[in-house]
Amino acid sequence: MSSELVALLYLVAGVLFILALRGLSSPETSRRGNYMGMAGMAIAVVTTLAVAAPQSGLSWAMIICGIAIGGTIGAVIARRIPMTAMPELVAAFHSLVGMAAVLVAAAAYYAPEAFGIGAPGSIRVASLVEMSLGAAIGAITFTGSVIAFAKLSGRMSGAPILLPARHLINIALGIALIACIVLFCQEQTPFYFWAIVALSLLLGVLIIVPIGGADMPVVISMLNSYSGWAAAGIGFTLGNTALIVTGALVGSSGAILSYIMCKGMNRSFISVILGGFGGETAGPSGDGEQKPVKLGSAEDAAFLMKNAEKVIIVPGYGMAVAQAQHALREMTDELKEVGVEVKFAIHPVAGRMPGHMNVLLAEANVPYDEVFELEDINSEFAQTDVVYIIGANDVVNPAAEDDPTSPIYGMPVLQVWKSGTVLFNKRSLASGYAGIDNPVFYKDNTMMVLGDAKKMTEEIAKSI
Ligand code: NDP
Repeated sequence: MSSELVALLYLVAGVLFILALRGLSSPETSRRGNYMGMAGMAIAVVTTLAVAAPQSGLSWAMIICGIAIGGTIGAVIARRIPMTAMPELVAAFHSLVGMAAVLVAAAAYYAPEAFGIGAPGSIRVASLVEMSLGAAIGAITFTGSVIAFAKLSGRMSGAPILLPARHLINIALGIALIACIVLFCQEQTPFYFWAIVALSLLLGVLIIVPIGGADMPVVISMLNSYSGWAAAGIGFTLGNTALIVTGALVGSSGAILSYIMCKGMNRSFISVILGGFGGETAGPSGDGEQKPVKLGSAEDAAFLMKNAEKVIIVPGYGMAVAQAQHALREMTDELKEVGVEVKFAIHPVAGRMPGHMNVLLAEANVPYDEVFELEDINSEFAQTDVVYIIGANDVVNPAAEDDPTSPIYGMPVLQVWKSGTVLFNKRSLASGYAGIDNPVFYKDNTMMVLGDAKKMTEEIAKSI
């Protein structure tokens, strides 16, 4: 394959990736965006194989065997994974990108001739810089993603682990890392290469362990961005433009997403990039003494909603767990039939991944013009008769506004308590992801409709 054709095919793949990102910016075009991304990736993979396979010394049988094994594992995992476990799967995949960056850097260091970057001991300085950055970002991404995976999947406590003087430790490690990169570029010895990897692995752990409470969404998008930059680093080492372009797209779109999430969480972007933000304080947990709450049945909820003029629905993680989106859509159809105005309010970090609620509502064919973001709907709660909270908790917790000791303090929340009546559906009075009690449970205008989100919503729909 001529180098011009390779460049052209990589360009086509790059354009398709950009169109994919554009498509993913709206639920209406997201499916098309996904197809564009898949087509771009297919072109990039086939082109790379056509170029690299003959030079690799591997037989096509071996390459196809490798693809079949990896592809089967990926397909099985993707088919089995429930929607609610998607964030931890994404974190696990990011760790693989990070590890790949480290391995490619190590391969380039030990066999520079194969990469056309010089001979052992006399590797070009520019390549040494690329290699050390790729290895460092890759190693940070690897351990950071493993910790995020462990926290999100419950294999490790989600509570922040705060080392004394952690900022000083991180700064010292950062300085040591830069010193090792400089010395590696001068001396080219294995000691400095592996010191870069070891320090970065440690830094990845230390950046993520102090993050707890409700700050994990920002971590996921931040690691997404890091994995992109690590891939771009590998692209430079391998001299592969498709990887550089794709890595840069992932890195920059991940950074933009982190910025959006930071705005949603009211956190500082710089402190997120540097790590170790949030989780400074621990709020009261939901396990304490039980205060009295008002309980209601599906019939009560149906009566209140069908006699309302306007109902706002606030979905959260519990809706995803119960897969209640279709039942919810049916319930809202019933309400609209009896003349009630229905809107959906989506918090930017509701659920367990960015856009989680939008995806589920789109799957249930909820019209997009009924779905509103926090900043567009928050002023409407005061003029709303009934709010139906379905499996949400942290995103409607007023402690974020009132309690400076709360781990979610400062995060904008949906001000549901300002409405006439709050119908709060969840299974118990347990806390949400941030592990803190929710004062809305105990308000005079709140009625707890306890039960599984799907079952309860189906019963309400029947009663309407
Ligand atoms: P929360 O985790 O705060 O609360 C979800 C609630 O759903 C729980 O309190 C639980 O209560 C209830 N629930 C669970 N299963 C069911 C069920 N089958 N039926 C009914 N209710 C159920 O969710 P929110 O969406 O309000 O907030 C998201 C949280 O997750 C935030 O803290 C956010 O920071 C964090 N997060 C978000 C990510 C993102 O990217 N969006 C990523 C990682 C974390 P009970 O057990 O009593 O039923």
